[in-house]
Amino acid sequence: MNRVYNFSAGPSMLPVPVLEKAAAEMLCYGNSGMSVMEMSHRSPDYEAIITDAEKLLRQLMNIPDNYKVLFLQGGASTQFAAVPLNLIGRTGKADYVVSGQFSGKAFKEAQKLGFDVVCAATSKEDNFTHIPTLTRDMFRPDAAYVHVCYNNTIYGTKYAAVPDTGDIPLVADMSSCILSEPVDVSRFAVIYAGAQKNMAPAGLTVVIVREDMLGYAKEEMPTMLDWKVMADNGSMYNTPPCYCIYIAKLVYEWILSLGGLEAMEKINRKKADTLYNYLDSQNYYVAPVLKDSRSMMNVTFVTGDPDLDKKFAAEASAAGFKNIKGHRSVGGMRASIYNAMPQEGVEKLVEFMKAFAAANPKT
Ligand SMILES: *Cc1c(COP(=O)(O)O)cnc(C)c1O
Repeated sequence: MNRVYNFSAGPSMLPVPVLEKAAAEMLCYGNSGMSVMEMSHRSPDYEAIITDAEKLLRQLMNIPDNYKVLFLQGGASTQFAAVPLNLIGRTGKADYVVSGQFSGKAFKEAQKLGFDVVCAATSKEDNFTHIPTLTRDMFRPDAAYVHVCYNNTIYGTKYAAVPDTGDIPLVADMSSCILSEPVDVSRFAVIYAGAQKNMAPAGLTVVIVREDMLGYAKEEMPTMLDWKVMADNGSMYNTPPCYCIYIAKLVYEWILSLGGLEAMEKINRKKADTLYNYLDSQNYYVAPVLKDSRSMMNVTFVTGDPDLDKKFAAEASAAGFKNIKGHRSVGGMRASIYNAMPQEGVEKLVEFMKAFAAANPKT
């Protein structure tokens, strides 16, 4: 059976060389006589894997020494609670930018915990088709942090630049854009990401936290949510998501072999341009996102007719372009073109889109 082009928003495609390496090492990792899944997380073989994974991620993202890298469980959604629980103690209040569904969930989670949080800006009134315009004076100067979702997976929007929050620490959910291009980590106090979009299988969440953000959790903080405990224990307070971290390490090696994040960005830019240039060149499909907010990872488009959208998704799937249906909350189509999607997959998708438009004229 041939592999398909999987445009899923997550879990999503992994690079074939990574899957091949994992397959080759499945039964016996090195001289260990066992698979990575069966290994004690305290064994020297595993210690080497997690140490290398952290080293490679630091190298790839150019993470400064005064940041901790944590390999955690619970998905990005657990961090929606962990962020306020770890940080709000700094000043007692926090500001959120609501640019889509996940940032809305993060905001609601902080509200649910009873904290003084406000939505400083949103693009909800425009159906989240762009990133809200942000200026420093929108934020409370004594906010413990400003929370943003850097790439909005469902709507296909992304910040064109790092928002300016002045002295207020910036916290970013980068689940769907981490490792897609270089980012200046020093502009952020905290970056977190579920791994299943661009890094590894589901089950791993990476948190990159500046050291001065640690230590504000209350006494009664659940231990598993406390970044300081996790940092002090090298992500080994309990059993970490061992196999996911191993795959993440292989993914980091793969990106480095391509030339790192600068090279990755070029590859991703070309893929996104292929799709957006086509969308801009015709009027059968409409790309609802404003140009300055377009995501390089998640490209959304509609035909304008829900029945045609449905037909498109079904015929695309039959032709080997899987999971191209938009999120259930917005409809239409969404092509997620993360790092592992080859250029060829995007080119073939564009050919399919042209053929579909020709075969299904709008009445
Ligand atoms: C997928 C996603 C999430 C949710 O991640 P889980 O790991 O399923 O909790 C949160 N934020 C963004 C931006 C996402 O893309």
